[in-house]
Amino acid sequence: TEFKTKPRPKEDKYLTDLKIIAVSSGKGGVGKSTVSANIAVAMARLGYRVGLLDTDIFGPSMPKMFGCEDARPYAIEKDGRQLIEPIEKFGVKLLSIGFFVSPETATLWRGGMACSALKQLICDSDWSDIDYLILDTPPGTSDIHLSLLQILNITGAVIVSTPQQVALADARKGIDMYQNDKVNVPILGLVENMAYFTPAELPENKYYIFGKDGCKNLAEQLNLPLLAQIPIVQSVCENGDNGTPAAMDVASPTGQAFLALAQGIV
Ligand code: ADP
Repeated sequence: TEFKTKPRPKEDKYLTDLKIIAVSSGKGGVGKSTVSANIAVAMARLGYRVGLLDTDIFGPSMPKMFGCEDARPYAIEKDGRQLIEPIEKFGVKLLSIGFFVSPETATLWRGGMACSALKQLICDSDWSDIDYLILDTPPGTSDIHLSLLQILNITGAVIVSTPQQVALADARKGIDMYQNDKVNVPILGLVENMAYFTPAELPENKYYIFGKDGCKNLAEQLNLPLLAQIPIVQSVCENGDNGTPAAMDVASPTGQAFLALAQGIV
């Protein structure tokens, strides 16, 4: 993919030369955070310097997925400024509101508070020395998305969906948001997650639990690239829970799939 880095009107020089990839889904629970985490880890494995920002203020899942729920980022002094230093794990620089606020507290926030917390995570954090910043965005098209679009010059968006019709309908709304005339963020492609299931005892069989090729068809219809079809794999779910993203295991088919996905984005 050829990226054009647009000049950023914002004053922050740390964010100027960065390629910023927003991972969006529309519907919740389709695996957007799982895909974001694995894209970030896979990019790091490919040798890129990667930051991952969990912008899901009301439901941050990255601390758990990276097995660092107890981590507390600290402030450093850089060029006369106090900046939050991201946590580094699996070669990825990670920040999440989950490091600072308990989920119960965050859910009591109003939109404005969430947006200002997000702004701090972006503008007052040390994102220097990275090539890519991956944004795990909340489901839907919320205030948080609008803030992200205002604060940052997003290079491109990756849309995650299952092949199910209700998920695809929401994915379309996400695509429309980015393709809106005033926003104009290029869609890098679609990721079909939970595309099928293959039981261990029937390795030749594919069961299309959420429907077959839903994202593939949507991608064709909208003339967008289909970046990956990721099956339902028990280890992907387990690895999310035990804090080691599947992309760490490059020998596994899923690890390979996430590496290929990352290669399709860089
Ligand atoms: P979202 O960010 O869209 O809400 P998550 O990434 O939190 O979704 O995923 C929802 C659930 O589905 C999690 O339990 C996750 O581990 C699981 N999951 C996601 N993708 C897969 C997959 N390809 N195979 C198996 N489980 C998956």
